[in-house]
Amino acid sequence: MSDKKITLEDIASLCKRRGFIFQGSEVYGGLSGTWDFGPLGVALKKNIMNLWWQMFVDDREDMYGVDASILMNQKVWQASGHVDTFTDPLVECGNCKARFREDQIDTAKCPTCNKENTFGEPRMFNMMFKTNIGPVDDESSISYLRPETAQGIFTNYKNVVDTFYPDVPFGIAQIGKAFRNEISPRDFVFRSREFEQMEIEYFVHPSKWEESFEMLRIAIHEWCKQLGLPESTIHELEVEESDRAHYSKRTIDFEFDFPHGRKELLGLAYRTDFDLANIHRVSGKSMDYRTKDGSEVFVPHVIEPSFGVERAIMAVLTSAYTVDQVNGEDRAYLKLPHHLAPIKYCVSPLLKNKPELVAKAREVYAVLKKKYGAVMWDDNGNIGKRYRRQDEIGTPYCIVIDFDTLEDGTVTVRDRDTTKQSRTTLEQILTDN
Ligand code: ATP
Repeated sequence: MSDKKITLEDIASLCKRRGFIFQGSEVYGGLSGTWDFGPLGVALKKNIMNLWWQMFVDDREDMYGVDASILMNQKVWQASGHVDTFTDPLVECGNCKARFREDQIDTAKCPTCNKENTFGEPRMFNMMFKTNIGPVDDESSISYLRPETAQGIFTNYKNVVDTFYPDVPFGIAQIGKAFRNEISPRDFVFRSREFEQMEIEYFVHPSKWEESFEMLRIAIHEWCKQLGLPESTIHELEVEESDRAHYSKRTIDFEFDFPHGRKELLGLAYRTDFDLANIHRVSGKSMDYRTKDGSEVFVPHVIEPSFGVERAIMAVLTSAYTVDQVNGEDRAYLKLPHHLAPIKYCVSPLLKNKPELVAKAREVYAVLKKKYGAVMWDDNGNIGKRYRRQDEIGTPYCIVIDFDTLEDGTVTVRDRDTTKQSRTTLEQILTDN
């Protein structure tokens, strides 16, 4: 394997060239901080989200899923503190007027025009996208695109308790879009204005939060492993009290070695009863939880694991991107875990001008497509080129139909990682996987 260091540019250009991720509104010159997922990108993203749902909801007995509305009553964001405090420090260059998040630059010199000492005092900029609901544009119709999915979970806590009577501890999980008007979106999809989150609010007895925190910390490591991220690239950062939100008693940022540095991949926070107490205060509705035997009544405390889908995709691509040497030439390929690969099999006839091979290959393709869905037909160029294309998008196996197939029914299966070819039957492939 080559020890060439992967760059953000390697990932972004592969994503564009091979149809994973495109700049949003590209045809009109783009819209900063927005990204569109192409056919392979949406497949990879769905595989990641489905894996998360399987691991954190379906495979467990203590989790309940919800899918809340993105638009919510503005009281949600007043009660949660987002209207007053969901802000970043904004500075503007007095010379070229470029704007930056103060904590992301060295304010001694403007990164755009290079002029020194042009920044004034920062002003606090609220990152929520504001909009109005209905035809009347006044204070009462204000709403926001949600900047996190969490509040849609908190506002449904009572609904889930009253309809499912879960025993504490239990969690509510949600996957969905979140929107933040980031001052300077950057680093490909790492910091976007529209992105997807996978969040859990885990409701616990106030005196027992530590064991649930530890259980979730371990579950997060298992998640990273399933994404194919080497353990050595994951770093737990205990956030110091002075850097934590005032209501949080403990927060761990899980950082990953991205091509642009060690940065936050996801977070795990103990939020006490901050959110439920706020809902009680503003709505007047009790958030009390009563144990089934009636012996205890309390407002649960909450542990929140919060995952960003785009950052997971970037971490997966960073880990999977591999350069080795094949026949004396560099080969760049995506060594994706098989369960995440957007395409599981690529099927092609050895020669596309031999109707009998094409017909047989079509048959094989139809059978695999019906069973696995994520199967691609590719008869462009020569076999070597097809293999390279599939390597670059991380397809674990290429299946080639040749004249021997017509004789004895065996096909060639070529392995992405070893580039080795072997002969097997279609039946064998179907039973193996
Ligand atoms: P940062 O410090 O990088 O701005 P944050 O601490 O504000 O992130 P959280 O509010 O904890 O982020 O959000 C939870 C998760 O949502 C993050 O760990 C990240 O995976 C994802 N996320 C947050 N902001 C963005 C964004 N602008 N673009 C893509 N993903 C994001």
